[in-house]
Amino acid sequence: MPNTPSPIAIITGGSRGIGAAIAERLATDGVVVVVNYARAEQAAAQVVHRIEAAGGRALAVQADVADPASAMVLFDAAEQAFGGVDILVNNAGTMALGAFAELSDADVARQFEVNVAGPFRTLREAARRLRHGGRIVNFSSSVVGLYQPRYGAYAATKAAVEAMTHVLAKELAPRGITVNAVAPGPTETEMFLGGKSDEQLRAMAAANPFGRFGQPQEIADVVAFLASPAAGWVNGQVLRVNGGVV
Ligand code: NAP
Repeated sequence: MPNTPSPIAIITGGSRGIGAAIAERLATDGVVVVVNYARAEQAAAQVVHRIEAAGGRALAVQADVADPASAMVLFDAAEQAFGGVDILVNNAGTMALGAFAELSDADVARQFEVNVAGPFRTLREAARRLRHGGRIVNFSSSVVGLYQPRYGAYAATKAAVEAMTHVLAKELAPRGITVNAVAPGPTETEMFLGGKSDEQLRAMAAANPFGRFGQPQEIADVVAFLASPAAGWVNGQVLRVNGGVV
């Protein structure tokens, strides 16, 4: 068997929820993982610990993606520790729901900083520094196509992510790098469950053809495919991973 070096991945927001599941799933595929977090230092350390206990390699790196320096911090850390970057998963995100009449400027600005400006900067850094044959997976949301009340600002940020995905896919293809996005539906994490009543959650689960929510692992499995060598001919796509909810 040829002794090929392990790919190196940066996962933004890898301390909890879907990002933590992606970090652990990629590590089981032999990927070396940089687990980014903003505040949850202990949770990120636990993700790293679980990966190392299973025989993998990982490093936790603090950086708030809303900070303009964050993209450089993450790529510098990955290059210094592991020698380069092959995979970027732009998973970190935030959501503030509210009708147009209710949302504050601060709610809107924060969502655009974390969900759009942050990914723009990591994508720019990836465009400069990702190695040949690399993989980028961005995070949209199925709400982009649902036009539900109270999701106006959040859905707008994710529509911007989809636009960046399509454009960058064309820019980086000559270097053998693919750029895709996943758009999960309701997935059981703190972000989704927070602030919803049991009754609301029951109704939302019932609206899915499977009658339930997605699990972080089910999103991570799709990200792992898009990040793998097997997905080399999948480029500029947005994959709605949601059990078929429309
Ligand atoms: P989550 O449970 O709230 O976890 C969010 C993760 O992102 C945490 O690791 C958090 O780190 C990190 N994060 C938040 N703000 C950050 C920042 N400014 N800089 C760096 N890291 C930051 O969220 P999730 O449900 O797993 O969502 C992951 C992605 O999927 C998001 O892009 C979200 O929009 C998208 N999505 C989720 C759903 C869903 O139903 N869950 C559906 C569609 C799309 P700390 O712990 O350090 O704060």
